[in-house]
Amino acid sequence: MTEIVIKSASLILTMDDAARELVGVDIRVRDGVIAEIGAGLTGGEAIDAAGCLVTPGLVNTHHHLYQSLTRAVPQAQDAPLFGWLQTLYPIWARFGPEEIHISALTGLAELALSGCTLTSDHLYLYPNGARLDDTIAAAAEIGMRFHPTRGAMSIGESDGGLPPDSLVEREAHILNDCIRVIDAFHDPAEGAMCRVGIAPCSPFSVSRDLMRDAAILARDKGVMLHTHLAENDEDIAYSLEKFGCRPGQYAEDLGWTGDDVWHAHCVKLDRQEIDLFAKTRTGIAHCPCSNCRLGSGIAPIRAMRDAAVKIGLGVDGSASNDSGNLVAEARMAMLLQRVQSGAEAMSAREALWIATRGGAEVLGRHDCGQIATGKRADIAIWDMSGVEAAGNLDMGAALLAGPTRVRDLLVEGRRIVADGQITSIDLAGTLARQRSLAAALMA
Ligand SMILES: [Zn+2]
Repeated sequence: MTEIVIKSASLILTMDDAARELVGVDIRVRDGVIAEIGAGLTGGEAIDAAGCLVTPGLVNTHHHLYQSLTRAVPQAQDAPLFGWLQTLYPIWARFGPEEIHISALTGLAELALSGCTLTSDHLYLYPNGARLDDTIAAAAEIGMRFHPTRGAMSIGESDGGLPPDSLVEREAHILNDCIRVIDAFHDPAEGAMCRVGIAPCSPFSVSRDLMRDAAILARDKGVMLHTHLAENDEDIAYSLEKFGCRPGQYAEDLGWTGDDVWHAHCVKLDRQEIDLFAKTRTGIAHCPCSNCRLGSGIAPIRAMRDAAVKIGLGVDGSASNDSGNLVAEARMAMLLQRVQSGAEAMSAREALWIATRGGAEVLGRHDCGQIATGKRADIAIWDMSGVEAAGNLDMGAALLAGPTRVRDLLVEGRRIVADGQITSIDLAGTLARQRSLAAALMA
């Protein structure tokens, strides 16, 4: 039995059903679970949280960890989505298992240091023998709760698609490999550290048949579905031209709505599509920095929240964000809604709710995303005594202008960040390897 007591937190934002905010109390963590919340708790290993804000671990609902090796590529810096992809595909085609593994470790470390305890990943290319297994191994090494999705592309350039033929796979093979990784790694149990999803890259990189078959397979296996949808105007135009309908209709026709589905971006959903997502409990991964970086637009998150659409945050891949900092993403989510709809459009607390509880709900994790007795012990401790938060009268709001690096991070009760440093892997060694792999790729 392992036991930790987080002592004397200055403020705890629980994100529980009553949205309780607790001052000066302790949290007892036992065997990966929050066992008790109250004053004067003793026993176990103590973590002093005086002067700290404590939140649930942040939840990232959309990423492409492999892109952590291809940040700020000069030729792709100022291109919109489709041109950006066409610049990067040839570089990604040179990846192999080690590039996938090291980029995942790098991206996961970056996320953990920004307070993230649970992340999804969308891996949709498997060049030169790379497998989803390479990312799952990385998450296990660092100790993060992980929802990898088996992505795919099947329509290459010679069939009128965007990716080069060397990066696409046969659809029969894709479905067989989905079955393989689900059977090998998916854990449906409460407290699971790994849950696998199925995630064709986007409606413009796979066939209608694969979208439909993926939905049938996911329901048969009891796993979730994920893809990119309605990201920008080009995306809508493509859907209207190729499919004769908007993306929401396309998704609905192929079984891609429901409580077990979440779509990334959805910047361009119209009123009808927002209502469809609300009615079907379909989730959204909102990626505000990526949407800004690629000039895609501002997703109508205020309208979606008002309609009770499930929304979580995503940093998206580091090729389209340049950063993978989740607490910074929460700040951007808040700011963008205010740019669009005024200063009352989103509070810091609402942005933090989306970044924690909202993401957990999108990923179907009712055991995560809140600090409450019986929930998993995924907890972020933020030092608010530094210069970034100096002078604040409200730690809950100051976090979105304050530290962008967590002080301590517990995942399933295990402290994987302590005093601002990753404890579970050799980060310096990982970064050295990452640099040499990246240099070889660009040579
Ligand atoms: Zn993406």
